[in-house]
Amino acid sequence: MSWRKESNLAWLRELPGVRMGEPIASRTSFGIGGPAEYFAEMANPQSIEVAIEGSRLRGIPHLLLGAGTNLLIADAGVEGLVIRVINRDYEVDGTRIRAGAGLKMMRLARIAADANLRGFEFAIGVPGTVGGAVYQNAGCWGHELREVLVAARGFQPGADRRTWSVDDLQFGYRTSALRDGPLRGSLVIDATIQLERGDGEEAKRLMAKLTSERNETQPIKTKNCGSVFMNPPGDSAGRLIQAAGLKGAREGAAVISQLHGNFIVNEGGATAVDVAALIERARATVMHRFGIELEREVELVGKWE
Ligand SMILES: Cc1cc2nc3c(=O)[nH]c(=O)nc-3n(C[C@H](O)[C@H](O)[C@H](O)COP(=O)(O)OP(=O)(O)OC[C@H]3O[C@@H](n4cnc5c(N)ncnc54)[C@H](O)[C@@H]3O)c2cc1C
Repeated sequence: MSWRKESNLAWLRELPGVRMGEPIASRTSFGIGGPAEYFAEMANPQSIEVAIEGSRLRGIPHLLLGAGTNLLIADAGVEGLVIRVINRDYEVDGTRIRAGAGLKMMRLARIAADANLRGFEFAIGVPGTVGGAVYQNAGCWGHELREVLVAARGFQPGADRRTWSVDDLQFGYRTSALRDGPLRGSLVIDATIQLERGDGEEAKRLMAKLTSERNETQPIKTKNCGSVFMNPPGDSAGRLIQAAGLKGAREGAAVISQLHGNFIVNEGGATAVDVAALIERARATVMHRFGIELEREVELVGKWE
C-alpha cells in the first residue's frame, strides 16, 4: 500500500521547516537532479531522530543529505522526505575533537590545525560532511577517517541513540556498516576523532601543498562528484578509464574529464540520465578491454525507474 495517505501527508507538512517540491540539485556538487518531495534542513539531532523514526513507522521513504558530494540524484527527484543534516557544532578537548555530522571535513581539518593538532590534514581533500565521511570511511592521500575516528554517536530507526565503536562501524575501503551493513538507514549525529599534538602552521602548509597538487591533477573547480568509481585492488580506476581511451567521452553535457579519467564533469545542464549512461559506458568498456569490474563510489538515489 502506498504511504501517501492523508494522515501521513499531514504529518510531513507539520515537520519543522519542511518545504514541498524543493529543488535540491544546487545542494549537490554535481548540480544535477529533480526535487525532493518533502525537504527540511535540521540542525537539532532530536528533531532529525523524530523525523526519521516517524518516517519509518509510516513507511515514508527518507534520505539523509550531507553536502551532496557523493550523490547522483535522479532527474525525477526523490520520493518522500529528504533531510539535510546541518548540525555543525564541535568541541576540542585536548587531542580529541567531537564534531557534528553537518560540519564539513575541510573545515574540521582547519579547526584541527588551529588547535595545533596533526593527523587530520588528509581531510582537506574531502569536500563532504563528517556524517557523509563516516558513512563511507572517506579518505585521501593514503589516509582514511577510520585511522583517527574513536567513536560516533548515531541513531538507528527502530532502536535507540547509541555510541558506535570503530568495530560497530565495520569500516572498509569506502564503506561502513551504515553503507553496506547492519546500520543501513541510520543517522550519524557526531563523530569523535583522536589526533596528535603538532604544529598548526606546519599542518596548514601541508594542507596548502596537498590542495595545490590536487588542483593540478583533478577538475576540482567543476561540477562533479569526486571519484566516480572505487579503485580496484592494485590499480586505479582513473588509469583504467584513460587506458580505455575514454577521456573526453561525452553524453549530452556530461563528459569524462580530460584531467582525470575517474571524474565526470557536468559542463552545464547535464541530466542524471546523461551521467548514468556515461558511468555505464565506462564500466562496460573497462570490463570489455581489461576484464576488470569497476564498482561505483558515487551513489545513485531517487526515482530512477
Ligand atoms: C571534488 C570532490 C573531491 C572528492 N574527493 C574525495 C576524496 O578524496 N576522498 C573521498 O573519500 N571522497 C571524496 N569525495 C566524495 C565525497 O566528498 C565523500 O564521499 C563524502 O564523504 C560525502 O559526504 P557528503 O556529506 O557530501 O555526503 P552526501 O553526498 O550528501 O551523502 C552520501 C551518503 O552519505 C549519507 N549521509 C550523509 N550524511 C549522513 C549522516 N549524518 N548520517 C548518515 N548518513 C549520512 C547519505 O545518506 C548518502 O547515502 C569527493 C567529492 C568531490 C565533489
